Amino acid sequence: MTPEQKKFAKGYRFNNFEGQPEAKISQLDIPSKVTIPLKQGFGDEVAPIVEIGQTVEAGQIIGRDDESISSPVHSSINGEVVAIEKIDYLGEETTVITIESNGNDGLQTLPGASVNWQDMPADTIDELVYLSGAASSGTSGIPTTFNSASIMPNEVENVIVQGVASQIHNISLEVLLKGDILSHFTAGLKILKKLMPKARFHMALDESQNRTISKALQLMSPVKTINVFTVPRKYPLHRDEVLIPLLLGQKIPHGYLAANIGAIVLDIPAILAVYDAVTEGIPLIEKTIALCGPGFRENTHVKARIGTCLEDILKKRTKPGKDIRLVKNSCLTGNTLTDMSLPISRTFNSIIALTEGTEREFLSFVRPGVNKDSFSRVFLSSLFEGLSPRIKKGCDTNLHGEVRPCIACGFCEDVCPVNLIPHLLFHQVQNDVIDELLINYKIFDCIDCNLCTYVCTSKIPLAKYIKDGREKLADEGLTCPEPDFPLKGVKP
Ligand code: SF4
Ligand code: SF4
Repeated sequence: MTPEQKKFAKGYRFNNFEGQPEAKISQLDIPSKVTIPLKQGFGDEVAPIVEIGQTVEAGQIIGRDDESISSPVHSSINGEVVAIEKIDYLGEETTVITIESNGNDGLQTLPGASVNWQDMPADTIDELVYLSGAASSGTSGIPTTFNSASIMPNEVENVIVQGVASQIHNISLEVLLKGDILSHFTAGLKILKKLMPKARFHMALDESQNRTISKALQLMSPVKTINVFTVPRKYPLHRDEVLIPLLLGQKIPHGYLAANIGAIVLDIPAILAVYDAVTEGIPLIEKTIALCGPGFRENTHVKARIGTCLEDILKKRTKPGKDIRLVKNSCLTGNTLTDMSLPISRTFNSIIALTEGTEREFLSFVRPGVNKDSFSRVFLSSLFEGLSPRIKKGCDTNLHGEVRPCIACGFCEDVCPVNLIPHLLFHQVQNDVIDELLINYKIFDCIDCNLCTYVCTSKIPLAKYIKDGREKLADEGLTCPEPDFPLKGVKP
């Protein structure tokens, strides 16, 4: 099996930044208390099915709603329910269940799971994937007959597994797929093939993952129905709106999900969660999280129970005496984490610790620097790239310069992954010209990846202007035209 190489002219390579996590992992102790959000991953918030004072086991379903598009949520420890309340969880009002541990470390597994999954009927696989919570994975969920996604399993035409490390900091594929786990991954794919028999399967790995690609190809050679692609390590190729057009030549209309065009995109942890659920009956109660960025003492990975608070994960791990900003999953688009009492959920892949910029750097854009990244390659770092991997580029929260007028350099246009002209949209919105021209310039195609803002020579917050432009259009009743081709399932 030879992978097909896909080229992508847009986007941006984040090469050689400091704070990449090493391929090491440590298992955290079972926490004395967890706070479990009832909305985790894809789907609606579920209803609690336990009461305060009730004893629960690790792996027991504590929230479930078969009427809405959702997947069950589990207790991640053994103990007693001490609170059910609504909190502000990363900007959304969310019901959470707090459980205090009783010190036992057992786990309630799902009945019907078996390592002989080949002999298992498809409806048992369907039920196990749903009951385990694995069905909440990905941007559209994994379809089951239990309403876990906006389409049914037999409507899925394409499943894409994305192993694209396109962010500034990325979870290590070596950690996710080390040792025997690679064979679990390939078995997980075959299990999903049984669940969605009409689907064609594709895998996109970034070209830097040579070892993983060749091992995966060896293991998957008997599975003739999987197309393997290599793609450049470019941001934001992990996004459905960019990866699907590149691999399948199909576009996701604005306001819809990949599922509405019959495609499901899943990451590697999602495939492993399916394997664990179907072969061992293990529900999704743990997460591997990469600790990235220069603000950590050690850049590594931890495996923690869902519901563990950030404080328990981060204690003694950040550098002392530094002002640090913590960000979830992506430097460019992630939530800032300020409340350390908040728990991790299924949606955490990485926590990034950036050193907080305290000074404005006057005329920073003309100062040379071996550790500065720039799209225009004006800094010395571009000379050292590839020559000395020990010289890493810095990553902090400074703007590194002042906001200046647009100089029409076109860099924002060069990188936009969905072929917009960000400076054109910016000028329209800045001048308050909110009319149909913005729709003609495809403002609704913007995927809020923030790459235009990142590369802008003049430090203009382009993506924010573009988002404001869309909101102002909506205020004036101007919306994105509906697609003129049939879509599947329920509109999100
Ligand atoms: S934020 Fe929007 S306009 Fe800017 S690069 Fe991303 S998709 Fe293009
Ligand atoms: S990158 Fe900034 S300065 Fe250059 S064209 Fe775009 S908006 Fe203007």
